[in-house]
Amino acid sequence: TAKLDIRTPEELVAAAGDLDLSHFWMPFTNNRFFKANPRLLASAKDMHYETTDGHKVLDGTAGLWCVNAGHGRAPVAAAIAAAAQTLDFAPTFQLGHPMAFKAATALAAIMPAGLDRIFFTDSGSESADTALKMALAYHHARGEAQRFRLIGRQRGYHGTNFGGMSVGGIGGNRRRHVSQVWGVDHLAHTHGDAVRFQRGMQPSNGNLADELEELVQLHGPETIAAVIVEPVAGSTGVLVPPQGYLQRLRDITRKYGILLIFDEVITGFGRLGTPTAAEYFGVTPDILTMAKGLTNGSVPMGAVAASREVHDTVVNGSPAGIEFFHGYTYSGHPVAAAAAVATLGLYADEGIFAHAAGLAKVWEEAAHSLRDCPNVIDIRNIGLVAGIELAARDGAPGARAMEAFHRAFDAGLLIRVTADIIALSPPLIVSESQIHEMFGKLAEVLRQTA
Ligand code: PMP
Repeated sequence: TAKLDIRTPEELVAAAGDLDLSHFWMPFTNNRFFKANPRLLASAKDMHYETTDGHKVLDGTAGLWCVNAGHGRAPVAAAIAAAAQTLDFAPTFQLGHPMAFKAATALAAIMPAGLDRIFFTDSGSESADTALKMALAYHHARGEAQRFRLIGRQRGYHGTNFGGMSVGGIGGNRRRHVSQVWGVDHLAHTHGDAVRFQRGMQPSNGNLADELEELVQLHGPETIAAVIVEPVAGSTGVLVPPQGYLQRLRDITRKYGILLIFDEVITGFGRLGTPTAAEYFGVTPDILTMAKGLTNGSVPMGAVAASREVHDTVVNGSPAGIEFFHGYTYSGHPVAAAAAVATLGLYADEGIFAHAAGLAKVWEEAAHSLRDCPNVIDIRNIGLVAGIELAARDGAPGARAMEAFHRAFDAGLLIRVTADIIALSPPLIVSESQIHEMFGKLAEVLRQTA
């Protein structure tokens, strides 16, 4: 047998041209295209990536909406190294270790009041499925096991596992995998074609949330366990809710004893200038899911914050033995927990959320400066996130935005595209001049893509 070829990251980058690309089946990727035209990232620092061939790229997407404190942060790297050397792994099933409790306490401190019971996962997808199961366990513990229905939303994205896929509303995610969790229904998404180029929240539109009342009447309130929404839908193109919408969902769910779940995998950790979107909108759910920014993207970790009512009902209301029959080998992993503690410390020490809040107006102006670029049919923004929607090419949906993605990368800017929508969500340490650089580059790219 051949000896395993072990090289350092630096050596691998130097020899990147010799890499065998066939074995890694890449996620959410056109593998055939990528492997014919590979773009390999070698390193990252603060606001920039650098490719294996030395091309420097301004990160307009915080990686995948996760590197909120910027890349290559020394305190996080040091915490990871120290944790790995001290306690590489420890079970949290019937045992524990201090760092997991410390991480939960640090995270609870920035959650909305009362949402301070923390369950750890490894990703946003796991957080979504955990939240849904938590809701079912809550009703079961209350003797209301007939509450099994879950209500999601069209154009919602809650990851790729079965629960999240089922409550999610992305056709490609659902139709190709056919089998779904049973008993799921969907609200309409919040993006009305009537409102274009809206800055921040859309005007009040009470009717949209009232649709929940109709679903409740249709299915019977006694059968509905939970409603799950992203406060601002991210992955499907930055859909900012109308004013009053989330509060109306809160009122209706409370009226019927239905739990409200906010998926804050994108909106958590300062994306809107506040620790959570719940705080930004002044609406507190019963369960709140997170991932990504929790460790600044450095190592995988997700979390679910539950209200004391949800936690206490499950923990005190279940028969003797394990109360919540759920968890992951890596729940509260010592290395990830250390990364989370260091990351939350960085956010606080550097006032990163307040910095983001202070730039939101500059961001909004810069985003809307693209209004007259060719093929731009809508621009949406909130906090430090923006969606720029392009007119699709005839017969080739997504092609125009994908061309923009490649052109932008070559011009030194990383953007994210879904269908014909460009999403921008930079690390929150971005400067005013980098915001202008970002939208200036994008304007040029849109002119070339015309
Ligand atoms: N929920 C939301 C709102 C997300 O945006 C994402 C990822 N973009 C997920 C869940 C899934 O997270 P992960 O990819 O970490 O599983």
